[in-house]
Amino acid sequence: MNQVMAKTNLKGLSPDEIKEFLAPFGVPGYRAGQIAGWIYGRGVSAFSEMTNLPKTLRDRLGEMAEVQSLEAVETQSSDRDGTVKYLFRCAGGALVESVWLPHGYGNNVCVSTQVGCRMGCHFCASTITGCERDLTAGEIVDQVLQISRRLPPDERVRSVVFMGMGEPLDNYDQVVRAMRLMHLPEGLGIGYRNQTLSTSGIIPGIERLAGERLPVTLSVSLHAPNEELRTRLMPVNRRYPLARLLEACDRYAEATGRRVTYEYILIRGINDSPSLAAELARRLRGRLAHVNLIPANPVPERRIIPPGPAAVEEFRVVLEQSGVGVTVRREMGRDIDAACGQLRRRAQRGK
Ligand code: SAH
Repeated sequence: MNQVMAKTNLKGLSPDEIKEFLAPFGVPGYRAGQIAGWIYGRGVSAFSEMTNLPKTLRDRLGEMAEVQSLEAVETQSSDRDGTVKYLFRCAGGALVESVWLPHGYGNNVCVSTQVGCRMGCHFCASTITGCERDLTAGEIVDQVLQISRRLPPDERVRSVVFMGMGEPLDNYDQVVRAMRLMHLPEGLGIGYRNQTLSTSGIIPGIERLAGERLPVTLSVSLHAPNEELRTRLMPVNRRYPLARLLEACDRYAEATGRRVTYEYILIRGINDSPSLAAELARRLRGRLAHVNLIPANPVPERRIIPPGPAAVEEFRVVLEQSGVGVTVRREMGRDIDAACGQLRRRAQRGK
């Protein structure tokens, strides 16, 4: 019988793993580095385009292996700030979102780590239909590669935030693998300090990440200064309460020497009062911390509305006067459904 062997997808394998894959065929080790350069540096998927490989090897690779790629099915560009949101289709049909943010801290890509999310935060569109599946490391890296490929020749991606759909620490192994692949010098060469992982606060994941000794930036979605309100907004707080979460963040800061960023989305009438700002300041004062205030993106399904600019400013000033480092994140992509999960929701609803 003629059995058809499934081809090995090389996207997601490290250069060492590519080397191991090729070794039984007598391919010299340095070829793995060349192949990794094509895949993770130039975003090339066709072996025929890997022109520094001998033709026989290219043909052989075509028989045994493949380099899977995401397909861009929709883009939305913001006229206001240049943000571009991509909707990608994975092999198997799942849809994921990524965002290209051209300014701010340099060219930045925001990637998704899961198809949907199981955390159930009340203000978030990604979680409304639960988590379909984890993304693979190859699919996470490919979001950056696909965007990078579409940039003008003199532009490159400088930083990546793991802040799209999904909870990165709920897909730990693939996310850390993706971070290492993005860091490869023959690949995108994105330094660990320019990689930010955002979490809803999964304490064992934070502890494990501290042990990796990768100096990635940790960003924690706080959104409330006390247990009661945080549990109402984020069910994860029941399992990993705020008090213990802050201690875990302190240990992360100590182990890595990196300041932890706390995200606080401001939702009108829910968590935006000056007294909550004062409570937040009391909790964070003296910690190696910085607060990022983000006026909430409206989510129609959840009746989430941002406060007006005066209330945002008042909240900021209370923190600042208490000696807590704080910035207000520029609202990017408000006009293009850029809050995580929104473009996919619209595609699911059939617009
Ligand atoms: N699960 C991770 C990363 C994905 S969410 C986390 O929770 O951090 C990325 C950020 O977008 C989080 O800070 C999340 O709270 C925020 N977010 C979710 N819904 C939002 C909305 N409607 N408006 C603004 N930010 C939102």
